[in-house]
Amino acid sequence: MSKALSVYYKAFETQIAEIEKAVHSGSAKPTLLLHACCGPCSSAVLEILLQHFDITILYYNPNIYPQAEYLRRKEELCNFLPAFLKEKAPPVIELAYKPEEFYEAVKIVNGFETMPEKDERCRMCYRLRLACCAKEAFDKHFDYFTTTLSISPHKDAKKINEEGKAAELELQKIHAGAEKVPQYLYADFKKKNGFKRSIELSEEYGLYRQDYCGCVYSSRNR
Ligand code: SF4
Repeated sequence: MSKALSVYYKAFETQIAEIEKAVHSGSAKPTLLLHACCGPCSSAVLEILLQHFDITILYYNPNIYPQAEYLRRKEELCNFLPAFLKEKAPPVIELAYKPEEFYEAVKIVNGFETMPEKDERCRMCYRLRLACCAKEAFDKHFDYFTTTLSISPHKDAKKINEEGKAAELELQKIHAGAEKVPQYLYADFKKKNGFKRSIELSEEYGLYRQDYCGCVYSSRNR
């Protein structure tokens, strides 16, 4: 498993090296639409990515149950960004909270109600959020898109990255001939102490760290 995870981290490093080379040759800093699930997971990820990208955050998480929890995580994220990054805090786009989109996405998996985290229900959950992020990135002319999700050791980086790349390929298919299609930025943000750093920043800024992933099924297993 660690071998598979390092593949995504290396792919990320390769993409960053290419971006830095282009910027040093005079290209503009690329834009990135970053899907974020909460403040704690965004913290260390932003610390890394702001060096390389002009970032906008996408808060699209119809998986989160109940709505009060969805609102609490969003509020925590929106309060944290200016406290942490001051004038460099990225703008946040929030899409409408429609939990039915999550239930529709996961119902095709047999036994999804009782599956442990990282299983196929989670793949559908990653797919839903990454496909939406890809679509928004295309519609709003971003250069790249990715998600904070891989910073959590409770998430499957292989599934996340497979779904992210698949979302990019789907865009290329739908928009064949388009001048620009956003690229998926590979990620395994827990590497190089990324997860540890997110805990440090959460403690420093007094962030609320939820004790379940987000959906009603994960809330039963906390
Ligand atoms: S456990 Fe987390 S990633 Fe998996 S389906 Fe629930 S909210 Fe989504």
